[in-house]
Amino acid sequence: MKKHSDFINCQKNIFDRNVTCLEVVKSYLDRIEKKNNLNIFVEVFEEESISRAKQIDKKIINKSAGKLAGMIIAIKDNICYKNHNVSAASKILKNFKSTFSATVIERLIEEDAIIIGRLNCDEFAMGSTNENSFYGPVKNPLNNNLTPGGSSGGCAAAVAASLCHVALGSDTGGSIRQPASFCGVIGLKPTYGMVSRHGLIAYASSFDQIGPISKSSYEIDIVMKIISGRDEYDTTCVFDRKDYENSNLDLSKMKIAIIKEASFHNLLHADVKKSFSKLIESISSDGHKISQISMPVLNYLVPAYYILTTAEASSNLSRYDGIKYGETQRKEINHWETVIKKTRSLGFGKEVKRRILLGTFVLSEGYYDNYYSKAQKIRRIVQQKTDEILNEFDFILLPTSPTIPFNLNQKHKDPTVLYLQDVFTVQSNLSGHPSLSIPIFQYKDDAPVGAQLIGKKLSDQTLLEYGDFILKNYV
Ligand code: GLN
Repeated sequence: MKKHSDFINCQKNIFDRNVTCLEVVKSYLDRIEKKNNLNIFVEVFEEESISRAKQIDKKIINKSAGKLAGMIIAIKDNICYKNHNVSAASKILKNFKSTFSATVIERLIEEDAIIIGRLNCDEFAMGSTNENSFYGPVKNPLNNNLTPGGSSGGCAAAVAASLCHVALGSDTGGSIRQPASFCGVIGLKPTYGMVSRHGLIAYASSFDQIGPISKSSYEIDIVMKIISGRDEYDTTCVFDRKDYENSNLDLSKMKIAIIKEASFHNLLHADVKKSFSKLIESISSDGHKISQISMPVLNYLVPAYYILTTAEASSNLSRYDGIKYGETQRKEINHWETVIKKTRSLGFGKEVKRRILLGTFVLSEGYYDNYYSKAQKIRRIVQQKTDEILNEFDFILLPTSPTIPFNLNQKHKDPTVLYLQDVFTVQSNLSGHPSLSIPIFQYKDDAPVGAQLIGKKLSDQTLLEYGDFILKNYV
């Protein structure tokens, strides 16, 4: 009798015909059902997954199966899949069905991956705890009293609970890496422009990237090889697939920069500090060159991020007006302005409203120069500074989050307290560089710590290789 663990790293076994895709899918569906209380899935594509598995099993027999045959993939509820509902965890899109598939989904299906369902997240990917979801919070599988992080909380939790091989999330300011860190798994935010955003429900278009979360860097790598590369439907997706596969570094001699302002940050939790110092110690005692550098602009990262992303969000979310998109509140209301007001008042949650208001404010005449233009200037400085550091070093290494996972229902009365937690993740979204979160030492079983590597643009694969090297040799 096979156990669920037999289906975890099972790609080779599928091709060798030691297990069938149908067995794999059934085992995953079974486990998803058992872990229902964690509120990870918004919808499970049960029948469809079973019928796809049967088709792919036939392809395996006649040797025509794609590279991802039998890989179980779950998607964040902001990635469109033709003829399936997608809601960005918002009431306003509760009954919305997509008429087309995101480019990433088309590419995965073409290689015979199985999309098993859509995953809970913060509404419109805005948040750090998954508590801004219309469907309610997700529980961290490692300790059900803790948040899995956000906004891709369902993605990291699904991977940690072994409910899929790989989850596809999106990262605008840390939403792949911070939940990966909180759930003890690996998450990659690719170089901006490496993966198509076509079919991703936009939060802040010049920041958003889709990326994979998994327990294994190998699985992240094979998924990246499929989803990366130019797309005629996204003009910001400018890199070729071969740009992803350009790793040729000697991993034993790396030059790593650590940021002084991050290592001594006042928000740094004692356990994170301890784990991170221990990692630095083992890496440097093995002959890698680690240098401390200063990045005074660190304190401006969060303000710049929230000004620019809310500005973009206020524009991106204007389409949900109950006329173009969004569940309409048209009943008994005759005036179009009232329809829009009512639709948006009832459809959006509190955090989304807050960000639309903030974004509209920073773009308004009279304030534009004080906020939006200044934040753009800071963005340019961050881009230059990050490039400068990475001209001299191979990687920047810093904690993914200053804290270990927070408790659920820990009411954050002041939203800026939560915003400040993004201090280490937003840099690479402001600059467009790739970054990876890997799980490092943890001092309590249920409270993992993540470390983050930022690499040169297009060094995504090298990041994964070096992350794997760290995991195998120093953790
Ligand atoms: N915590 C960040 C925010 O709330 C991350 C969002 C994201 O990456 N989608 O904006």
